[in-house]
Amino acid sequence: MKAAVFHGPRDVRFEDIAKPDLEDGDILLRVKACGICGSDLHTYRHGMFLQLGNPIESGRILGHEFSGEVAEISGDVQGIKVGDRVVTIGMGGNAEYIRIPKEMTAMLLPFDESISFIEAATTEPLATSLHGANLGDAKDGETHVIIGAGIIGLGILQCIKARSSAKVTVVDLSDKRLTKATELGADVVINAGRTNLVEELLGTVEVSEENILNEVPGTVDTIYDCAGMGKNFKGPSVLQQAIQIVRENGKVVVVAVFEQDVSIDYNVIVRKGIQVLGSWAWTMEEFVESSQLIVSGRIDRKPLVSHTFPLEKASDAYETQLLAEEAIKVVFTP
Ligand SMILES: [Zn+2]
Repeated sequence: MKAAVFHGPRDVRFEDIAKPDLEDGDILLRVKACGICGSDLHTYRHGMFLQLGNPIESGRILGHEFSGEVAEISGDVQGIKVGDRVVTIGMGGNAEYIRIPKEMTAMLLPFDESISFIEAATTEPLATSLHGANLGDAKDGETHVIIGAGIIGLGILQCIKARSSAKVTVVDLSDKRLTKATELGADVVINAGRTNLVEELLGTVEVSEENILNEVPGTVDTIYDCAGMGKNFKGPSVLQQAIQIVRENGKVVVVAVFEQDVSIDYNVIVRKGIQVLGSWAWTMEEFVESSQLIVSGRIDRKPLVSHTFPLEKASDAYETQLLAEEAIKVVFTP
C-alpha cells in the first residue's frame, strides 16, 4: 500500500509498504483524509513526539487526524459494516490503510454523506480545541483572547462561539489567518506584528517590580496560548504577555507546545492570582462531542482546510503546513 514514511527531520518519503495484517476483531480502514497536526510538524521539523508515529520497518508513519471507509472486518464486529464512513482515534494515518485494533473499534464514529471525509478528519483537532475551551469555560459576557490563529486557536474560537456569547479577540501575525478568524466570528482581531499586544490590551500600564503591589491591570477573563515558543523565536513569550494582560484571578490556558524554555515573571502570576492551566489532547467524551458538533452542522470546519495533497506529495504537504502565513490545515487525501 501507499504510505508517507518519516525517516528523520525534514525527511518524509512516499513509499510502498506492506498492508497491515488483521487479527480477529480488528478492522481495516481505508484512509480517505488525514490532516497534518501541529505535533506531526514538531516531529517533521525537530524529531519531537516520535511516539505519536506508528513504527514500521523503514521508519514511522505519522498522522492521527483521519477519517475513512471500513474496508475489511476481521471476524465478528458488531455495529459496523464494510463501506461505513467513520472517524476514529489511532496512529499512522499517512497511509492508504490503517488497522483499527479490536479494543478501539467501539470508537468508530459514523457520519453520513452530508459530511465530507476531509471535514470529518478535522474532528481530532476540534477535540483538542474543545478541551482547551472547556478549561477556559467561557461564560456569556466574558472577554476571551486567543493568541495563535492556527487550527487549534480557530477551533477554540468556534467552540466558544457555538456555546456562549463571550467576546473573543484573536491575535496572530498572519493577516490571512486573522481574516479567517473574522469570518468565523471573532469580535476583534489584532496583528501582533504591527501592534504591541500588551499595550493594546492593557493601555500603557505595565505590571513591574515597582508597581506590582498596587497595580493589577487587565480585564481579559481568559487567554489561550495557542502559539507557544518556537525554537528560533526571540523576544517575550506569548505566555509572559498573557499573564500581563489577563485580569486578576483570570485564567491562562496553555494549549501550545514549547520548543524552547521561556522566562516567566512568576510574581505576576502570584500577585494576580492567575490560574495557568495546561491543556493536552482531549477526553473520549470530548472526541465524541466534537464529532457531533461537526455532524450536526453547529461547527463548520470546511473553511479551515487550506490545502489538500495526495500521499505522493508528502514532502510538499509537510513543507506547506510549515508556512504559517499560507496554510491553516493541510490534509492528505490518500
Ligand atoms: Zn492532532
